[in-house]
Amino acid sequence: MSRTPIIAGNWKMFKTVSEAVAFFEAVKGKAEVAGVESVICAPFTNLPALVEAAKGTSIAIGAQNLHFEDNGAFTGEISGVMLKDLGVKYVLIGHSERRQYFAETDETVNKKVHAAFRHSLVPIVCIGENLEEREAGTTKDVCRVQTEAAFKGVSAEQAAQSVIAYEPVWAIGTGKSSTSADAQDVIGYVRSIIAELYDQATADAIRIQYGGSVKPNNVAEYMGQADIDGALVGGASLEPDSYIALVEGA
Ligand code: PGA
Repeated sequence: MSRTPIIAGNWKMFKTVSEAVAFFEAVKGKAEVAGVESVICAPFTNLPALVEAAKGTSIAIGAQNLHFEDNGAFTGEISGVMLKDLGVKYVLIGHSERRQYFAETDETVNKKVHAAFRHSLVPIVCIGENLEEREAGTTKDVCRVQTEAAFKGVSAEQAAQSVIAYEPVWAIGTGKSSTSADAQDVIGYVRSIIAELYDQATADAIRIQYGGSVKPNNVAEYMGQADIDGALVGGASLEPDSYIALVEGA
């Protein structure tokens, strides 16, 4: 299997420009490990400085959201055209905090995935069940609905380049991580959905991350699972030493 592991930091609403640049200087050359892709998903305001700082390094820069239209009367929004123009490579789509607090739906997630591809941005599509759904035993059904909706109208070629982040909502920022066996079980299932929607080659190519309280001391355990290709990391991606350890641990 030739999937390149991918560690992505999700800074959420943290770090000013000077803090972002200082972080980058501290991880440069260190959070760069051969055979592992390293991505920082930062607030919009940090992106120009980070893209500049990342030149000549192997670290890619990602945004945390985009609007699904390319331009127009959408006060306060940022489009794929704008992100591409900056030199951003990745974009998080449908993070559970966006679904929960900013009314993102499966439909807007799908529109955003298409917007990302229109501008050659790589989407990191976030899916995952909340605590109620987990307790009701509907984890896999929820992941199926979210995955099928996100990839509606997406070609096999585009799907193969995409990244999915499976993040159980109850594990995000709580310190309660999913066991690696549970995460593998769900992620293997998500890969089988991709095989159903497309074909085995596409399922073998798409990278699927686990996210939810990933730390330097548990990242290797997740990475040891057959279908887990990386991690989307919030809290533990904010400190340089911790971020370096995550990339090294992959
Ligand atoms: P966490 O966040 O690592 O702090 O749990 C993960 C995420 O929200 O992507």
